[in-house]
Amino acid sequence: MNEASEPPAVRYRRVVPPGRSWSGLVARGETLRIVDLIGEQAVDALLYAAADTAERYDAQLTVLAQASTVVTRGTRLYSNRGRVMMTVAADTLGAHDTLVGCCSAEGNTVRFGEQARHLHSCRDNFLIELGMHGMSKCDIVPNLNFFMPVPLEEDGRLAIVGGAQQPGHFVDLLAAIDVLCVLSNCPQINNPCNGFDPTPIEVTITSAAGTLAHNI
Ligand SMILES: [Zn+2]
Repeated sequence: MNEASEPPAVRYRRVVPPGRSWSGLVARGETLRIVDLIGEQAVDALLYAAADTAERYDAQLTVLAQASTVVTRGTRLYSNRGRVMMTVAADTLGAHDTLVGCCSAEGNTVRFGEQARHLHSCRDNFLIELGMHGMSKCDIVPNLNFFMPVPLEEDGRLAIVGGAQQPGHFVDLLAAIDVLCVLSNCPQINNPCNGFDPTPIEVTITSAAGTLAHNI
């Protein structure tokens, strides 16, 4: 696999502990890098236009635009207003999901049984982060799942499988507009995409020449 090379002009760096959340502004022309530090760690993501958070990531338009269910290098991530918000500029893994949504009390109960209902979830993490930006559960939409391949079979079946076992896989998201990015470092211990043992991730933002860096 490729090692995570150091991007130039990193203006922000943060390690997100296992199971925790993160949000930050990525200005137009900047690149958000998400690194799976240990391996087998899913990262759920939501995107909002910084200028008007009523404009947000749209999974259906993204799938429609590229006629593929796989998110990978070159995928343009569309908003509900039909604008490109970010483009996947680099991807060492090769396949990420935007079909199956985030883990939640309800979803965990369906997948893993009643005993999983009250486990901390990505939906809980999204609510924590969205609350910091004046948003609520009404603002949660179908999301992106990085480092979580969901193979789609010829007969239409799909499965959530384990992610990359090697450490250091990363995706680079180049912002086409100013974007508020909200991440959940998935806390679900029953999910093979987390190797049944959630681990830390790293987030960096690379400043682009000529753009004004936002405070986070
Ligand atoms: Zn999750």
